[in-house]
Amino acid sequence: MQLHTDIPLKNYTTMRLGGNARFMTDIHSVDELASLCQHAAEHQLPIFVLGGGSNTIVRDAGFAGIVARNRIMGYDIIDDQPGASTIRVGAGENWDETVKRTVDAGLSGIEALSAIPGTVGASPVQNIGAYGQEVADTIMSVDAYDMHQSQLVTLDNEACGFAYRHSIFRGDQAGRYCIVSVTFQLSKSSPQPPFYAAVETYFAEHNVTLFTPAAVREAVTDIRKNKLPDPAELPNAGSFFKNAIIDDWLYRELIEQYPDMPSYDMPEHRHKIPTGWLIEQTGLRGQTLHGMRIHDKNALVLINESASSYEDLKNAREAIKDAVRDKFRIDIEQEPLEL
Ligand SMILES: Cc1cc2nc3c(=O)[nH]c(=O)nc-3n(C[C@H](O)[C@H](O)[C@H](O)COP(=O)(O)OP(=O)(O)OC[C@H]3O[C@@H](n4cnc5c(N)ncnc54)[C@H](O)[C@@H]3O)c2cc1C
Repeated sequence: MQLHTDIPLKNYTTMRLGGNARFMTDIHSVDELASLCQHAAEHQLPIFVLGGGSNTIVRDAGFAGIVARNRIMGYDIIDDQPGASTIRVGAGENWDETVKRTVDAGLSGIEALSAIPGTVGASPVQNIGAYGQEVADTIMSVDAYDMHQSQLVTLDNEACGFAYRHSIFRGDQAGRYCIVSVTFQLSKSSPQPPFYAAVETYFAEHNVTLFTPAAVREAVTDIRKNKLPDPAELPNAGSFFKNAIIDDWLYRELIEQYPDMPSYDMPEHRHKIPTGWLIEQTGLRGQTLHGMRIHDKNALVLINESASSYEDLKNAREAIKDAVRDKFRIDIEQEPLEL
């Protein structure tokens, strides 16, 4: 294990902003991770676990500890039944390559999560979701190194506390666990309609009638290509805001005022409102604020066009949040975590 010093984190995060890591290293095994934790404890240094950096925003001060990039690999079929397969995948594996591998094996459950950047280990952290699927629906368990207790633990699905774009790993246990592998149970049955609206439309337009995991993957990959900027060309962190979930009383007031407002019913009489729509209504779509452009094809995405610091991003974020709050009385929440 080699610790590198003063590493610019903007080179390791897709938003390409922010300061340096005092130390940085790659972790390839649980043993390396255990030694790193011991070293960090001896020198009283905090550890931040990084995957692909596609959902992490770095502040200008950087990180005065050790950034550990998770590179623990592996893909094992641990159970194979007539209707389902159980696979355990190393946290450092690329997410989209893993989806491709499962789809090539004819397995269903994560095909609609195709083309999401990042690593397998980060997938449970915010319970990644897209086009009608959420990774939590396929996760049986997560193996993680408990950096507080210095031991390897297995957390079952319930213990992960999954919710919409949320889990314990970004909630009250943030910073405690380094995920080393994720175990998924995937189905051998074909995905069944109805699909997410955009996928349904794609299938109709492309005369797709055989619904396989591969067909869903191809549809989603194609749809995303036209809607989301490639971080390699235009720095961004995907959806910068979570969709808004509001109480029924506010929903009733707003729908009277804005009858076209899209919404999805949620448990406990709550309603999910697409934040992209809310931002569009403020007239900010396509505008550039403090060097951050609000993507013209998807107002949820902020592109770092010419921002030179986290401070610029913060100012742009606050201006967007204020505009949405002033118009709708809704407080929108940032999706990527900050370091
Ligand atoms: C163009 C684009 C499109 C996107 N589309 C979607 C989408 O459709 N749906 C969606 O849900 N997300 C989407 N995202 C967000 C992002 O890709 C996902 O959140 C992804 O899971 C992040 O993976 P990462 O490895 O890059 O995470 P990182 O940014 O490296 O880390 C994210 C968080 O997870 C923690 N973490 C990472 N690895 C581990 C580990 N092994 N153990 C413990 N904690 C860990 C980090 O500490 C950090 O807090 C998109 C991002 C981009 C840039």
